[in-house]
Amino acid sequence: MSKNIDWANLGFGYVPTDARYVSWYKDGKWDDGTLTSDASITMSECACVLQYAQTVFEGLKAYTTADGRIVTFRPDLNAERMIDSANRLKMPAFPKERFIDAIKQVVAANKEFVPPYGSGATLYIRPFMFGYDSIIGVKPANEYQFRAFCTPVGPYFKGGVRPLTVRISDYDRAAPNGTGHIKAGLNYAMSLYAIVDAHEKGFDENFYLDPATRTKIEETGGANILFVTKDGKVVTPKSSSILPSITRRSLLQVAKDYLGLEVEEREIYVEELSEMAECGLCGTAAVISPVGKIVDHGKEICLPSGMNEMGPITKKLYETLTGIQMGTIPAPEGWIVEVC
Ligand SMILES: *Cc1c(COP(=O)(O)O)cnc(C)c1O
Repeated sequence: MSKNIDWANLGFGYVPTDARYVSWYKDGKWDDGTLTSDASITMSECACVLQYAQTVFEGLKAYTTADGRIVTFRPDLNAERMIDSANRLKMPAFPKERFIDAIKQVVAANKEFVPPYGSGATLYIRPFMFGYDSIIGVKPANEYQFRAFCTPVGPYFKGGVRPLTVRISDYDRAAPNGTGHIKAGLNYAMSLYAIVDAHEKGFDENFYLDPATRTKIEETGGANILFVTKDGKVVTPKSSSILPSITRRSLLQVAKDYLGLEVEEREIYVEELSEMAECGLCGTAAVISPVGKIVDHGKEICLPSGMNEMGPITKKLYETLTGIQMGTIPAPEGWIVEVC
């Protein structure tokens, strides 16, 4: 039985659910972990996460497939990425098998919050971990908490697809040998100024450049970028400071194996933008949101796909990947993980 929620009109906001998963790391090891109904966390004013932002997170979805199963999409890749993120911030890794088990437990315990097939809504899952004990001299915490909660979120393209207008940002996101490739709250804290500024000036998103040369496109604050060239090739920026989006990696495989397209991961220069036929932002939330216009310091680059719809190849990619996720198109081995 589903909760009595108006799925179609649900937004993207936090709605507390019945249960969340918690595991503590103390004395050099993780405890067994448990589900709890307590959505609050109490900690010292000097907790490492509060003073030095020692925290990493993940984001994935659970949803109902066409044949009524509740599944998640490639949680093994979220588990691996969280281990990479933890290593970079000197946090203990939460083991991959336990991560997947925690996701299954938390979704199963909240199954009444999983939106029905066809509603467009999904259950968004947020695993995260943080340094918990008091740290004043700069060093990693000794104690950590891993948590995973979930919240139902509404359809991303409510009222239809609306291609985005983005600007080339003068703010930088990630230094060449910094932390751009990990999923850490710190990368988001410093993007808030730039995104609020973009919104105030009428842009939906920022395209960040490589800070070393400021000539190459990297990504937005929370999504990777895919382009389709005028000769139908799918290209995506290559850089060590881009967050390795699971959606983007999956879309590239879909482009190659399902659509027979040529794909390329390479450096993409700002100068080349006017040669692109289509552009989309990819991430778990929207899968792909189309970009219609890129503004480079007053110079408008209008993608031929326009401001009313997704480009034809972007649309095929979107439909194929969402079909795989919803179980209407056969999935590559291991992509769909059943919860219940
Ligand atoms: C999470 C995130 C993405 C998207 O990754 P997915 O695994 O596809 O959800 C892209 N860029 C940044 C900076 C992110 O934090």
